[in-house]
Amino acid sequence: MSTVLVVNSGSSSIKYQLVDTVHGSALASGIVERIGETVGSIKHTFADATTSRTDPVPDHGAGLRAVLDLFREQGPDLQEAGIVAVGHRVVHGGSVFGGPVLVTDEVMDQIDALSPLAPLHNPPNLTGIRVARELFPDVPHVVVFDTAFFRTLPEAAATYAIDKEVAAAYGVRRYGFHGTSHQYVSTRVAEVLGRRPQDLNQIVLHLGNGASASAVRGGVAVETSMGLTPLEGLVMGTRSGDLDPAVLIHLQRNAGMSVDDVDDLLNRRSGLKGLSGENDFRALHGLVDAGDPDAVLALDVYLHRLRKYVGAYCAVLGRVDVIAFTAGVGENDEIVRARALENLESLGIAVDLEKNAGRIREPRIISPDWATTTVMVVPTNEELAIARQAVDLVGDAPDDSADLGHA
Ligand code: AMP
Repeated sequence: MSTVLVVNSGSSSIKYQLVDTVHGSALASGIVERIGETVGSIKHTFADATTSRTDPVPDHGAGLRAVLDLFREQGPDLQEAGIVAVGHRVVHGGSVFGGPVLVTDEVMDQIDALSPLAPLHNPPNLTGIRVARELFPDVPHVVVFDTAFFRTLPEAAATYAIDKEVAAAYGVRRYGFHGTSHQYVSTRVAEVLGRRPQDLNQIVLHLGNGASASAVRGGVAVETSMGLTPLEGLVMGTRSGDLDPAVLIHLQRNAGMSVDDVDDLLNRRSGLKGLSGENDFRALHGLVDAGDPDAVLALDVYLHRLRKYVGAYCAVLGRVDVIAFTAGVGENDEIVRARALENLESLGIAVDLEKNAGRIREPRIISPDWATTTVMVVPTNEELAIARQAVDLVGDAPDDSADLGHA
């Protein structure tokens, strides 16, 4: 057996999954939440049974140790699990990292140096890596960056039109995020269609609570909607996506808002939530059905932005072979999929309402046979993608001397 423990550390949470990289399945998974608060919560799922605990989790170290206790008590036995690597998700790799890397002290320092670009993400990601290295000292640790897939963006797509010296001094350019998902889905599309990735031009729509679009030409990312940070682009659950940058200036000059106020407004009090009070699509549709005008407008704004990006990426790519929907909304919400692509028959794009109906965990085609662009729903699996990249980097021979979970 060859497995990878995938760890995703946020500011107050740790998500983890033990991935069987041979069969592509999750052997166990869980989440530690509310780290640092009076009462934390831990959920661990193995063999269809979920164990939940509410205990204080003072820091990430205590969180990961509690996870190891749950593995020992509830299984699976990590000593027997054939762990070949621990894979870590890191949000920002800047212009430095174009692919997965083995964790070294120098890599840790480089990730730390990128923290000003992702102050909410890179520091907790690093804390998770530091703690996991202490707990798993004999296993290679691999970092997979959210930005890496977009290192190939052409300069014309990656460059903001501002003073080039200011941009260079502060790393102001478009990096893109959700790269692991866009890469996984675009590769999976080719597999499912039995085509070579280099022969396909694709638009990938990752629509979750965070949302991003990408244009992928022949397997290479050439455009994406997120930029310096994951705030640019599509309307999201609580994030605004694109707006006139002068909105920030206006609010700071005239509404007495500080930098932190504007940060909070655009990241946490905007998007669907800001417009309608609701950021979950299941609840939003309920409000729309009840005729709530704010919810109707929120959905219209969301779809209008999404359609604009689809149109823009048709122009970027010239020929679009596939449009793939993924993530929580993209995989589950047939209304969003159908409305996002309606009335585009003249571009060879359409959704067959019967094929589109319902939710299935398998990749599927939802366009009619006549369409020149194949529209698909392809479930994403970032943990599996991270695990596979980690295995590719370290080789898949388990190290018998590895001492797991006893540090
Ligand atoms: P993600 O960030 O990929 O986990 O996606 C989370 C979002 O997916 C939620 O906030 C919901 O808006 C959406 N979602 C999840 N399940 C459904 C569903 N059955 N129907 C519509 N939207 C869903």
